[in-house]
Amino acid sequence: MQYCGKRTFSLLWQILLLMAGGMLLFGTAYAEAADFGERIGSMAEIKAVRISNTSDKTRIVIDSSREAAYKVSVLSNPQRIVVDIKNAWVNSSVKKSMAVGSSFAQNVRIAQHDANTVRVVVESSLGKNNYKIFPLKGGSAAYRIVMDFGDLGNASKGSGIDFNAQPKSDEAAADAAGQTETAKQDDVKISEPVFTPGLKGKIIALDAGHGGSDVGAIGPTGVTEKGVSLRVAQELQKRLLAEGAVVLMTRTKDTEVSPKKANASDVEELQARCDVGNNGKADIFLSIHMDSFTNSTPSGTTGYYYAKGSRAGQRLAQYVSEGIVASLGTGNRGTKSCNFYVVKHTAMPAALLEMAFISNDKEEKLMNSEAGIKKAAEGILNGLKKFFG
Ligand SMILES: [Zn+2]
Repeated sequence: MQYCGKRTFSLLWQILLLMAGGMLLFGTAYAEAADFGERIGSMAEIKAVRISNTSDKTRIVIDSSREAAYKVSVLSNPQRIVVDIKNAWVNSSVKKSMAVGSSFAQNVRIAQHDANTVRVVVESSLGKNNYKIFPLKGGSAAYRIVMDFGDLGNASKGSGIDFNAQPKSDEAAADAAGQTETAKQDDVKISEPVFTPGLKGKIIALDAGHGGSDVGAIGPTGVTEKGVSLRVAQELQKRLLAEGAVVLMTRTKDTEVSPKKANASDVEELQARCDVGNNGKADIFLSIHMDSFTNSTPSGTTGYYYAKGSRAGQRLAQYVSEGIVASLGTGNRGTKSCNFYVVKHTAMPAALLEMAFISNDKEEKLMNSEAGIKKAAEGILNGLKKFFG
């Protein structure tokens, strides 16, 4: 994810710096690419902004590649809490604006304020006893700036917030952002469907994760999650059609699913995907993704199902991930319960599949190959066959 972002970023800034004549920063009329690369190398890369909400607290975590100094200030009308991170740059994959979805804070925005400063702005009307901003150093290279909003007196225990959580997937972040808006109508999803055996005539909703302005994760050589997910979904569509199934695709192009396109909120976009399955009365819903981490070590396949969903959803997650593991030869990270929006807000057994890690060099390469795409589709197909029996 970092590498491609850096390239985009450095290009943009090279142009800006060249335009500025390099006078301020380099003292020469032309900044050489190498100089710039070194400069970026000494800056903190802001890799992600994560939001989690509990009933008594909202936590916003800014993930940085290294320790970074920051300054907090407050602006009014409407009240905004501003964190300026020094000697830092924001990776282009970080969403510029996110709804927080809580009563403690409304919106968080992040931008490259100037060549050296990343500015994070949180709209919140809380007084200064009700928010706290502090650095958190993690294991190896991780560094975080944590912003807590809400009832901070009892937040240290039992708040349900995972203080040392690994960076959550984009799905989790999007879900956290959307949870409170929709918490009332959903929740129960436990009816166990009974299926006739075989794939023939079954209505399968396939959701190729991300698309359009939402690239998803990006691999070390620039392969995008939105591209891989679409290729696998389309390959799988072909095979399912050959088996006599009916296939509902949330998208067949590099585009958003919501009619609002790039202007859709996270929830609108994810709901549009659910609508494809719900309106088409799909028998199952399968969302296809690539996993990602801040370093290239993790690898393997994970199947996710809705924590309060049907046992069928859990079985679906298990069978399709096991199918992938068998055909691709990836490591099996198991099946896990989750709260992801698309598995929660679909009316049928649903699973979200993280096929492999795009942040892992080997798996990025594998999933960018024709053979990898075919094997992944074949593996999922086998899982679906097993699911319907
Ligand atoms: Zn994804």
